[in-house]
Amino acid sequence: VLILGIETSCDETAAAVVADGYEILSNVVSSQVEIHRCFGGVVPEVASRRHLEMLNPVIDLALKEAGVSFDDLDAVAVTQGPGLLGSLLVGLMAAKSLAFALKLPLIAVHHIKAHVYANFLAYPRVEFPFVALVVSGGHTDLIYATSHSDFRLIGRTKDDAAGEAFDKVARFLGLEYPGGPAIERKARQGDPAAFPLPHLQRTGEDFDTSFSGLKTAVIYRWRQAQEKGEKVRVEDVAASFQATVVEILQEKAFAAVRAFKVPTLLLAGGVAANGHLRARFTTRAQEEGINLLIPPPALCTDNAAMVAAAAYYQFLRGDFAPLTISAEAGLPLG
Ligand code: ATP
Ligand code: MG
Ligand code: FE
Repeated sequence: VLILGIETSCDETAAAVVADGYEILSNVVSSQVEIHRCFGGVVPEVASRRHLEMLNPVIDLALKEAGVSFDDLDAVAVTQGPGLLGSLLVGLMAAKSLAFALKLPLIAVHHIKAHVYANFLAYPRVEFPFVALVVSGGHTDLIYATSHSDFRLIGRTKDDAAGEAFDKVARFLGLEYPGGPAIERKARQGDPAAFPLPHLQRTGEDFDTSFSGLKTAVIYRWRQAQEKGEKVRVEDVAASFQATVVEILQEKAFAAVRAFKVPTLLLAGGVAANGHLRARFTTRAQEEGINLLIPPPALCTDNAAMVAAAAYYQFLRGDFAPLTISAEAGLPLG
């Protein structure tokens, strides 16, 4: 089964061809990072215009690299939401047009579910049930899944998403956008103990997280140090912030694994590309005897192969979308 996946939920214009839900024949991602960098973040209007320009060439390239033609496809899959409405609409319109013209089924995919399916590309034999932690620019979702059609949201952020916190703290520190990779680079030369930060989570009560207090603590401690004339190194702040975020995520994720008594924990989303996070989760999983799956970094950030992978299981159960569906910026999971 050959599925063309299309992803335009944020600032990546992406198309991919995936066979049988796991074999990546092509995975083309055109990032708009350089365009949005001068604004310090994604500008929605600019993003949708750029998707409009880039999507057709990106789809053509995905087919070419896969060595297939439109006639070889079995379905067209697209991100329906959540994401930026204008951006989502560009991908959805393209997918609908293709499905209509080629007489192929249209498959509407949930973006966060797609992030989880990056694991199915990297590890073809993922077994249910599992807990998944999706840490991205807009989400910090803990998910309990018992089958391909039963994904339950068990925890989320009460304020900022983990990636959003990385981006905001990076901006405060004068680092470039996107903040996650910038903070990770600085943190390598930093000492987390040199700039201690509070955890500020209500532990043990639920699987929700909060990161806006941590962001405020960084700003407050920085100003406090400056007033006292203490010298603060950006590297130390980055290392401490990164370590604190990872510890908070770990506590919540492993608590969920215990509470739902699952043998497997999946990580996904852009923040899961973070080297410190990957290392800490790996060590903890070994200590606790948990089977931990993390996609390679390139499949953690937005791409269309994960959309096609998620769509494959919807294809198998005939979960097709009518051509009348619309994009949903706040599409709920499940
Ligand atoms: P969502 O998936 O919630 O709609 P999104 O699609 O914008 O949001 P992703 O593309 O999955 O999010 O991830 C982007 C986020 O990941 C950004 O906030 C970015 O700073 C963060 N990120 C990327 N690489 C790293 C890294 N190495 N360390 C920490 N954060 C990272
Ligand atoms: Mg992005
Ligand atoms: Fe994403």
